[in-house]
Amino acid sequence: AITSDLLSFTRSAEAIRHNCQWMAGGVNSNFRLNISPTPLVIERGEGPFLYDVDGNRLIDYYLGMGPMILGHNPAALTQAVKRQIDDGILFGAQSAVEAEAARLVCQMVPSAERMRFGGSGSEVDQAALRLARAATGRRNIIKFEGHYHGWFDNVLWSTAPAPDAAGPREAPKAVAGSKGQLADTADTLVVLPWNDPELLEARLAQGDIAAVIMEAAMCNAGAVHPLPGYLEGVREACTRHGTILIFDEVITGFRLAPGGAQELFGVTPDLSTFGKAIANGFPVAAIAGRADLLDMFVSGGVVHGGTYNAQPIAMAATVATLQSLKPSLYEEIAVNGTRLMDGMREIFARHGVKAVVEGFPQVFHVAFGLEQPARDYRDLARMNRQAYVAFTTALLHRGVRALERGAWFMSIAHDDAVVASTLEAVEGAVKQIRAD
Ligand code: PMP
Repeated sequence: AITSDLLSFTRSAEAIRHNCQWMAGGVNSNFRLNISPTPLVIERGEGPFLYDVDGNRLIDYYLGMGPMILGHNPAALTQAVKRQIDDGILFGAQSAVEAEAARLVCQMVPSAERMRFGGSGSEVDQAALRLARAATGRRNIIKFEGHYHGWFDNVLWSTAPAPDAAGPREAPKAVAGSKGQLADTADTLVVLPWNDPELLEARLAQGDIAAVIMEAAMCNAGAVHPLPGYLEGVREACTRHGTILIFDEVITGFRLAPGGAQELFGVTPDLSTFGKAIANGFPVAAIAGRADLLDMFVSGGVVHGGTYNAQPIAMAATVATLQSLKPSLYEEIAVNGTRLMDGMREIFARHGVKAVVEGFPQVFHVAFGLEQPARDYRDLARMNRQAYVAFTTALLHRGVRALERGAWFMSIAHDDAVVASTLEAVEGAVKQIRAD
């Protein structure tokens, strides 16, 4: 029962239909498809807002799928980028700006003795797995159900398996994410449920695991905390069994704290990967960690390449972003993020909507139908997805854009007033879905 003062998205829908003649599906990532009521076409972003082709102003909690921790178009970043453009675009050589960006990463990330830049999270995750295999001489990798490490064949397994397709929790089947994916890449993969130290210990004890790769807090499917002591236990077990521990901090890095999840939880991985918030929307990623491992790119015969690695304009954006990420920024986001999470809990409770709002003030999820916080992907998969999509769709028609699948991302631009407007929209959306 959508009333006439709600926002409409007909021009976006028309443009997407029209653009299908050139771009497959009218989009450039499968994760931008199948959005209700339509994938959007955006004209401009500023602070917490996006402005679309229908003339709508939307409060944005996608934030480019996570990167924009400073909000859209922060002045410090756009000015740095404009200055860098005057000096050139790509050199196929080193530059002072990339060295400064690298210095900042090593200063901010606790485990970063050494690092390299890359172009996307998917790529640097591949670099991490290659280093781990080269360093250990082993081939097998442990990954966890619901954790996403990019779209390449060897890791796009069990990222969002239908629970009935995945077999028993204690011994999940590797479920392919895509047609055309080489099936035998699963032969080197062991899929386990996350947050279960006993199952991990038992598998590591077989002595054939090159690396454990995980999101230190599972922020891709939702925003799930590691159980107390879990990360410490994984760290200790990996050390004992000669396995490399990789934290995929593509979402958590520079978002949960200046030094990411590893700083927040005080646990040091051997390698970690970054992307998204590292450059507030520019295509930058990084792999960082133990110097002896990263130096295998120099003297260990391990190859890492990329035409656009450390592209100077993206590096200027990285420096400007990292310089802005002071501890006080996280405290400010925490105040507004907590207010939003608490406000949503209060609205759900008042309207008798069973939902869990969980995660971190900088990134959290809303799970309809759950009674208590999820511990792993299977818990989260029990949420009422249909009701949640009805909710995010109702929100969009009230000017608030939140991911249908995944987490809400906060930025420093989401202030008091923005949170208050969001909560008004939440109230309206809840009333609508209760009425429908
Ligand atoms: N790891 C995690 C945890 C991610 O969330 C993502 C992207 N959503 C990636 C890796 C892949 O990054 P990219 O999309 O930049 O390739």
